[in-house]
Amino acid sequence: MADIQSLEQRLESITVQDENYDSNAPAEKTKAKGTLATAPSHSTAQSRLKLPLQKLPANTTTNKPATANQLNPVPTLTKITLPSQAAQQHSQRTSATNPASPDTDPLALPTLPKQPTLPKQFHLGMFEIGKPLGKGKFGRVYLARERSTNFICALKVLHKSELQQGKVEKQVRREIEIQSNLAHPNILRLYGHFHDTKRIFLILEYAGKGELYKHLRKAQRFPEPLAAQYIAQMASALKYLHGKHVMHRDIKPENILVGLHGEIKISDFGWSVHAPNNRRNTMCGTLDYLPPEMIKPGREENWYSEKVDLWSLGVLMFEFLVGEAPFEDTPVMTQRRIARGEMTVPGFVSAEARDLIKRLLVLDPAGRIPLEEVERHGWVLRHCVKGERHFQRTSGGKESGGKEKVERG
Ligand code: ATP
Ligand code: MG
Repeated sequence: MADIQSLEQRLESITVQDENYDSNAPAEKTKAKGTLATAPSHSTAQSRLKLPLQKLPANTTTNKPATANQLNPVPTLTKITLPSQAAQQHSQRTSATNPASPDTDPLALPTLPKQPTLPKQFHLGMFEIGKPLGKGKFGRVYLARERSTNFICALKVLHKSELQQGKVEKQVRREIEIQSNLAHPNILRLYGHFHDTKRIFLILEYAGKGELYKHLRKAQRFPEPLAAQYIAQMASALKYLHGKHVMHRDIKPENILVGLHGEIKISDFGWSVHAPNNRRNTMCGTLDYLPPEMIKPGREENWYSEKVDLWSLGVLMFEFLVGEAPFEDTPVMTQRRIARGEMTVPGFVSAEARDLIKRLLVLDPAGRIPLEEVERHGWVLRHCVKGERHFQRTSGGKESGGKEKVERG
């Protein structure tokens, strides 16, 4: 009990320190990108992790931490599995491949629930709270460790009163509902949530390398091979989402985090399935990624087409390669240029990349290149086959160069 109280106090004191939230301007997108003490590089994150480390009893799951790892929380990241995570991985495995073969963790199978009832499993006392990772419009995010498993995660704290004031309770509920049912390597996992009288806590996957936005600003623009790997990962994640009839609708570098291995993680599902009206009121400042069909009035049905994400993927790809969004201008001009699809790809962008950008940034939603074809596009294949294999570590097959056409074999 005392333990929980001290945690509460600690959390509150961090919150106070971190408080520069302007409650007079709740409707504005106050991102203040440069001012947050947000997720630094992996190594900094490790050295700044000031959690008192203890030896903890092994958990009931089959994933027991190696003894050495108990003294250093970061390596445990890939080894430790929350019960809910194991269950989700299991259900993912069994739905992706066929029924679990006996060699896939037979001991765990009978005891794992298929859809764990996460809210009932967690409470604040289970977590040690570390440094603040960042602060959004409504949430403050902290590095945290689940005590019994040593599992490192990001704990997002939302104050119910602020959600009420901002009239976003429904949106948050929707976000939780959607995100907790998603399990893909390029989508930020939501392992569970719980609440107390004042706050809602989201247990999120920790994205050790922070915001993609910051990496992009630092690099100014990404080299084509890296951009292609990111676009391939985005296409894979979007394909997964659209397969589940989820549209993200707010794809932009600010909503993409980077995992410890450099893989990208789409986050922020706040607008994923959301009434158009509310969005319009709060979207000032982020016009750059809006597709033409969302700008035109009276076409609300278009807001529910997954093709909006294809347009945003095109804008993202452009920004990766050029360092700024294709329609960046005054708000009025941005809207006008989006509506006409007016943009110029600079000469230093390769012809293949330019081709893909142009196939994504098509005014007519139906004319945009489908995600399957994005993944097979020459530019993506040229740079990514190797990268993807490295990332997924599945095939173990021999490497072929960029364009591997089947007929030759
Ligand atoms: P908004 O409230 O406008 O959506 P946001 O997405 O930046 O803004 P949060 O999702 O609350 O707000 O996150 C705040 C910041 O905390 C992020 O910008 C990021 O730097 C950091 N952060 C959030 N989630 C994680 C995570 N899972 N791992 C690492 N850092 C994170
Ligand atoms: Mg956010």
